[in-house]
Amino acid sequence: MTDPGVVPPNWGFYMGDETKRRRYCKMCNVWKPDRTHHCSICNRCILNMDHHCPWINNCVGFYNRKFFIQLLSYVYLSLIIVVLFTIPEMYGRGMELTRNPNHYSESTFFVLETVFLTLAFCMALLLICTLTNFIKFHMKLVLENYTTIENLEREEGAKSKFDIGRRRTGRNCEGCIDKCFFTVGPCS
Ligand SMILES: [Zn+2]
Ligand SMILES: [Zn+2]
Repeated sequence: MTDPGVVPPNWGFYMGDETKRRRYCKMCNVWKPDRTHHCSICNRCILNMDHHCPWINNCVGFYNRKFFIQLLSYVYLSLIIVVLFTIPEMYGRGMELTRNPNHYSESTFFVLETVFLTLAFCMALLLICTLTNFIKFHMKLVLENYTTIENLEREEGAKSKFDIGRRRTGRNCEGCIDKCFFTVGPCS
């Protein structure tokens, strides 16, 4: 599990520009850089916090957002492969059961297996439907350089004040979508 990012020690004490507004976290006793939020579940401040993900029991932030997007993509791809390769098997079993009704009494195992397979198949389909919107939402956020938290506060159609353009966002490590996206470790 990758660390989503902590506030560097002593950050914000010597900013040079004292007129700048700084936020302070009373729980962690640190100054909070822009886009940093305190997670009540992790009980710490997270750099560039996106959201707390209950599935990975960790926050998604500056250092692990890429891995989060990768996780989503890999799960999605696996589900599609599972569904595609199950279709012929399901079709064959359906034909078998309709062609030979005696099968019900002959092989309880075959029928049970088919029931389990159908359940798993429906589950995978359902997950694909849910994940499609979820991935679309997160890819859009990455491309626009938004975090989920900022997206909640954003006005309709407003550009992120951290928006640096799609191409540069792609090269930026917090939202790798270029060739660096396919590497398993952090980008160098
Ligand atoms: Zn905090
Ligand atoms: Zn958290």
